[in-house]
Amino acid sequence: STFKSLGLNDAILQAITDMGFETPSEVQEKAIPIVLEQETDLVALAQTGTGKTAAFGFPMLQKINLDSRTTQGLILSPTRELCLQITNELIAYGKYMKGLNVVSIYGGASIQDQAKQIKKGAQIIVATPGRMKDMIGRRMIDISKIEYCVLDEADEMLNMGFFEDITEILSHSPKDKSTWLFSATMPKEVATIAKKFMNNPEEVTV
Ligand code: AMP
Repeated sequence: STFKSLGLNDAILQAITDMGFETPSEVQEKAIPIVLEQETDLVALAQTGTGKTAAFGFPMLQKINLDSRTTQGLILSPTRELCLQITNELIAYGKYMKGLNVVSIYGGASIQDQAKQIKKGAQIIVATPGRMKDMIGRRMIDISKIEYCVLDEADEMLNMGFFEDITEILSHSPKDKSTWLFSATMPKEVATIAKKFMNNPEEVTV
């Protein structure tokens, strides 16, 4: 298949061409049509290096309403490094999307600076769970209108002890959003989180 046949729009296709990606990776081929067209929840078993960031990044970007500055998409990831990497990828994929604002939220940096970034209006937030929970609790971030939520490297986040933070964060989000979970492994803790937060997810393994 081609990126076009997966249903991606011209702005994203142009960015993909600029990046030099020629064909969709397996996880992209399997996951993108599910979340773009079926609009169901998704559990994807995929390691780093499989192109999983684009597998959730392309469809999330495509679904964002750029005329609004409301936060519509949330991506939770285990580390600051991963947050920054995902943010940079999304910015590159969204380079032809005028008005797109993607903000990273993570611990160990100024919370005031991050709050200032959020105030400008971020359609997509990429966050580590601890700082995100903190900023929601301090009313610096509102996720009551999100439509898309990604739990990236879910096994890693649970290994790092983020179960309670994730639960607290998601309790502030709408029930009827789409949730896409990516994990390299499927220990029972990940299955538990999938069961707790997702509705009949489609499953994809690569
Ligand atoms: P990830 O698994 O998301 O960490 O992606 C691994 C690397 O593959 C990243 O540097 C991406 O830029 C790159 N990549 C993602 N999708 C493709 C693709 N379809 N073709 C070539 N490279 C890709």
